[in-house]
Amino acid sequence: MSTKPYRVLVGQIFQETHGFSPVPTPMRAFEVDPASSMIDTQRQSDSTLGGIIRTLEAAGVELIPSIAARARCGGKVTNEAYAEISAAIVAAAEHAQADAIALDLHGCMQTEALDSAELDLLTRLRAVVGPRLPIVAGFDLHAHATADMLSLLDFSSAYKTNPHADAAQTGQRVADHLLHMLRTGERPAGYFLRVPMLTSGNDETGTGPLHAIHQSAQAAIGAHTDLIDYSVFNVNPFIDGPQVGQGVLVYGAANAPPDHAANLANTLAQNLWDARAAFVHTLPTIDDVIARYPRSAQAITIGDFGDRVLAGAPGDSVHILDRVLTRGDRHITIIVADPDAYLRCAEAGVGATLETSLGASLTPGLTPVTVSGRVNHIGDGSFTNRGQFMKGGVLRLGPYAVLAGKHFIAVITQDAVMSQDPGCYLDAGVPLDNADIIVVKSGYHFKLAFQGYGPCVIAETPGLTGFAPDTLPFSKCRPIYPLDRLTPVLEAQRLTRG
Ligand SMILES: [Zn+2]
Repeated sequence: MSTKPYRVLVGQIFQETHGFSPVPTPMRAFEVDPASSMIDTQRQSDSTLGGIIRTLEAAGVELIPSIAARARCGGKVTNEAYAEISAAIVAAAEHAQADAIALDLHGCMQTEALDSAELDLLTRLRAVVGPRLPIVAGFDLHAHATADMLSLLDFSSAYKTNPHADAAQTGQRVADHLLHMLRTGERPAGYFLRVPMLTSGNDETGTGPLHAIHQSAQAAIGAHTDLIDYSVFNVNPFIDGPQVGQGVLVYGAANAPPDHAANLANTLAQNLWDARAAFVHTLPTIDDVIARYPRSAQAITIGDFGDRVLAGAPGDSVHILDRVLTRGDRHITIIVADPDAYLRCAEAGVGATLETSLGASLTPGLTPVTVSGRVNHIGDGSFTNRGQFMKGGVLRLGPYAVLAGKHFIAVITQDAVMSQDPGCYLDAGVPLDNADIIVVKSGYHFKLAFQGYGPCVIAETPGLTGFAPDTLPFSKCRPIYPLDRLTPVLEAQRLTRG
């Protein structure tokens, strides 16, 4: 037996695209760890890549770094940014003479030119390393998984939880299966099928239809030793592209009869389809929320569901501000991306009073408001997460102005900001102790951080991230539920590569 360690190339390219956002995601939106530092940085991380690195290092594998790049959800990645990041991985694969490649991919990344950046990346990697070299990947469960993409991989697996709490375990699982493949030469047999449907909410894994589907999948994997792993991909419902839909992937052992894996995939897909009408949630309007929570000593934190930056929206809606100012009986604290209003404040300077149009400058169909206030602060920088989600993590605020009026205080930013944490206000110098209403551009994760201020609720608001597929111009993925009437044939196919 050879004592020479296996050499595995590792890399990460991670962005979830909102395919209908008019605001592209440029290179500056990515946090990049270059080859020289990515192993040390990512070894500490709770990411899929962190799980891959720790598992492979513990097994004595020699890691070959390429690049690790992550950006928040947003519009399509610019061709330049994708070219730069993907070239680093492909060039490393060309020169590394690795025994295998292990990747951390979101799986739902689109560029200005590509409906699936991951399909492009894996196709180029195969062109460089050939059909035999093992390539494995861990995915977010909101990936745009297709048979074309998955057949380029020898093993892949998605998170099993939403909200996502198992990225590192996913990396560990992927690395463990890679090690088995390297030691035995065996390749697991993958079976995949697409379910032509979009979800419209109610898609957390701890409750609702997905809870039952994951429970039955785990029971089946536990009961059959020839079943290796399953993934249920619930595609991010804000992209269009060929084969967009739900995906089910089951791997069986290399030489096992195919029935178990294919049957499990078929059953899970049928369960998804049968539950299609249950993947919907209905939300109160802003006026409903205000009526339900009378003014009190506690703040209400309202998630602006239609304009969730955490789901890729531009963060420029002022719908909630407009409703609250029109009523005139509460004070509201809001964060709004509006590059022009930011510039007007910056030009006016700290201490100046001005009247300005605010919001609705990026998302089609929204309406701006006109507000008057004093420029309290101009800044540029970042904020630190206080709450459980990404606690201690530093996120970009970028250039911003704080404008304060009679019934409002607004943090006006040049770019969209993830605002699931009070840090985005506190580190911009905006205290929250006396707020009546705090607006965040998040649908779920903010509850973990804002509950100390009072009730946290989400409201139905206009914008690009409400679950209203009939308002978005889907074309390439049609026919698809709920936009079309169809009766799908749900039959898993073995993933094969030429
Ligand atoms: Zn996700």
